[in-house]
Amino acid sequence: MYDLIVIGSGPGGYVAAIRAAQLGMKTAIIEKYSTLGGTCLNVGCIPSKALLDSSEHYHNAAHTFENHGINLSSLKVNFKQMVSRKRDVVKQNVEGIQYLMKKNKIDVHQGIGSFKDKNTIIVTKEDGKTEELTAKKTIIATGSKPANLPFINLDKERIITSTEALELKEVPKHLVIIGGGVIGLELGSVYARLGAKVSVVEFMNGIIPTMDKTMGKELQKSLKKLGFEFYLQHKVTGVERKGKEVTVTAENSKNETISIKGDYVLVSIGRKPYTDGLNAAAAGVKINDKGQVEVDENLKTSADNIYAIGDVVKGAMLAHKAEEEGVFVAETLAGQKPHVNYLLIPGVVYTWPEVASVGYTEEQLKEKGVKVKTGKFPFMASGRARASGDVDGLVKVLADAETDEILGVHMIGPRAADMIAEAVVAMEYRASAEDIARMSHAHPTYTEAFKEACLGATDNRALHL
Ligand code: FAD
Repeated sequence: MYDLIVIGSGPGGYVAAIRAAQLGMKTAIIEKYSTLGGTCLNVGCIPSKALLDSSEHYHNAAHTFENHGINLSSLKVNFKQMVSRKRDVVKQNVEGIQYLMKKNKIDVHQGIGSFKDKNTIIVTKEDGKTEELTAKKTIIATGSKPANLPFINLDKERIITSTEALELKEVPKHLVIIGGGVIGLELGSVYARLGAKVSVVEFMNGIIPTMDKTMGKELQKSLKKLGFEFYLQHKVTGVERKGKEVTVTAENSKNETISIKGDYVLVSIGRKPYTDGLNAAAAGVKINDKGQVEVDENLKTSADNIYAIGDVVKGAMLAHKAEEEGVFVAETLAGQKPHVNYLLIPGVVYTWPEVASVGYTEEQLKEKGVKVKTGKFPFMASGRARASGDVDGLVKVLADAETDEILGVHMIGPRAADMIAEAVVAMEYRASAEDIARMSHAHPTYTEAFKEACLGATDNRALHL
């Protein structure tokens, strides 16, 4: 009998297994696919970033190199090679997880894990053979799948989800994206940089609607420069395909119908928790009406020896949130007292400029009735940004008007994804804006923009604005 079985090898599952093994538990992991790493490594974070990086290189070579005094002739995209490189990056990463399983002496069982009872899991392999495993404790980390609208027939050729968008055979001529969230905008950026026309149809009145409104507005400006076309406050009512042509129909807020024709439609309206085949009921594990595994504050399910983490439970659907929860449960099982600070899980959009956020948005603070001081610093005023030519965007710091504690940091600009870590550390230690304003930041760096925004939040005393 294992001390712990983890079902699902995404960033939640494999991290939980590693931490449990480090803490001395006899651990196994069950994964239905032949490669480890889940959505994130196979069809999510990693392949999307590989294509984002490649397409960014091309875009810069085509549009900004000349300005830097670098002239290229006969520049062209070898899309097949781009996708092939992406596959190599994925392969290296999933092999890395395989190595980590071996190193930590974690048994890997390939197949679909389904509960027989709360201590027994049946693993059904591809050839139909089954194996029964028993465990004292189990962690469900079965992740999520792309969501769809009931009237859309995903043919996975031209009406596609993010999974197929990472494996296209050609650059679309006109990609219509349903949903202006993180995944749609990242994949839209890849293809816009490679020359596709990109149209985004979004139901809400702004893109990346869950983030601070300033970020959405700024990002929309930047993406428009890249050639994106936006249809905000439009409700998609139909998607039709005729041969190579796809038509998306949508209604605007005045009930007028528009139709957009393209050659590919990407449906990116979010993701839904995945529990198919798990037979959760046999173990007494409750699934709620959103399809999530129901958990308490310790991530324990309705069965007292079974926990659940990551995309399959409530909260942000992010790899690093899943990882934190994996560590949390493993340490809880070992009798430790870990914690996860959900407020300080950063959110990032890997467009260019990148968007990164942590803590409360201005809208949330207004709703809570908290009085705030705001400091903003545009990258246009940063020497580092001018040197690299990445002058779009700003850093926005929200600090408590009375105590000066930083309550939210929202950035759009170069390397914001990496820069947000400083804000996470500051907020974890409950820094005031003044604390950051008094710390030396190397010059010239993009991070000076965070310091300047903090100076701005404390008595409007930014030095370079
Ligand atoms: P998953 O990664 O979904 O893994 C679940 C695993 O469980 C899968 O491998 C599945 O096959 C397996 N499984 C399911 N049921 C069973 C079963 N019954 N038996 C055995 N195995 C089973 N997040 C970020 O933080 N940063 C990003 O940049 C980012 N980019 C993304 C880009 C795209 C295109 C997409 C789609 C997602 C992105 N995400 C990103 C989200 C991120 O991928 C998820 O939040 C993360 O993978 C969730 O991890 P998880 O461990 O909960 O589940």
